[in-house]
Amino acid sequence: MSPFAFLPPSSFPLVPGICLGCRTVVLAGERCPNAREHRVVRLETPAGRDQLLTEVWGSPRPRRRSKTVSWAPTIEGGNPLTDGSGLATNWSPLVWAVKALASAWRRHRQRPRPCGAPVEPPTPTGRSWSGRALAADGQAAGVLARGLRLECERAAFSPVMLRDGRCLNLLLELDDGSRLQVPAGALRVEAADGLTDQRRPSQLVSYLRSIDPLRTDSPLAATADPIPFERAVEVTVQSGDRVELLGELDWSPDHSQPTAGYRSMQSIGVPRGPCVLRLLAQPHAGQGEVPRPP
Ligand SMILES: [Zn+2]
Repeated sequence: MSPFAFLPPSSFPLVPGICLGCRTVVLAGERCPNAREHRVVRLETPAGRDQLLTEVWGSPRPRRRSKTVSWAPTIEGGNPLTDGSGLATNWSPLVWAVKALASAWRRHRQRPRPCGAPVEPPTPTGRSWSGRALAADGQAAGVLARGLRLECERAAFSPVMLRDGRCLNLLLELDDGSRLQVPAGALRVEAADGLTDQRRPSQLVSYLRSIDPLRTDSPLAATADPIPFERAVEVTVQSGDRVELLGELDWSPDHSQPTAGYRSMQSIGVPRGPCVLRLLAQPHAGQGEVPRPP
């Protein structure tokens, strides 16, 4: 199984779930990594899908009503360009155009408004550690971790409609020579300004279907989409990138490192709980050594 949650659906043996609180994607059978009390639903059943739809769009009754709203333009007083009565009833094409624009703007403002994640994942306690990201298996280059955030700017509470992040077994070589080991699995992956990529919605079709198998190809009614979004922000950490890890660590002697004696033995740290991996710089980007993914 690929550790990257946003590769083709075959990456998943089972449909993952999504947390109703912080909207984090959670592999089947796991709890939300950000808080054990967060409720997780799976969208492969109509019941699970309806729970997320209710969180995003409100209770089913008003949702059904909003689906029946006609979005066809309607102008009170008729259309003088087509019914022949315009100039005779003091309508001018200019007035009609202004009214049409006002009507369109009113309908635009009255669109149903989704609710984003009501809860932000807590910031892990502990200090931050910075260094160079490397693959634990010694692989020279490649993608080590990815994070994805789907956002809807006009959403209430928060623009975040979905967040996901995974890493391979990775090592962080710290500036003082010691090392951290982050086991493969769920991980919050963020980036400093200017180090994110934008994904087109069309590039995420198979990813979204792997989470929401009942999704259809036909355009969804606004309130029938449990994961509405306008923007997809991706963070990719590659071997050699400079990163920062925030979280509590457990330290133990690093027996894999050559030493001259017990006193000179290095330590290796392993995260004790949730942690955040933050991309700080990509020294190889633009030099052709570690190309960014398409
Ligand atoms: Zn959660």
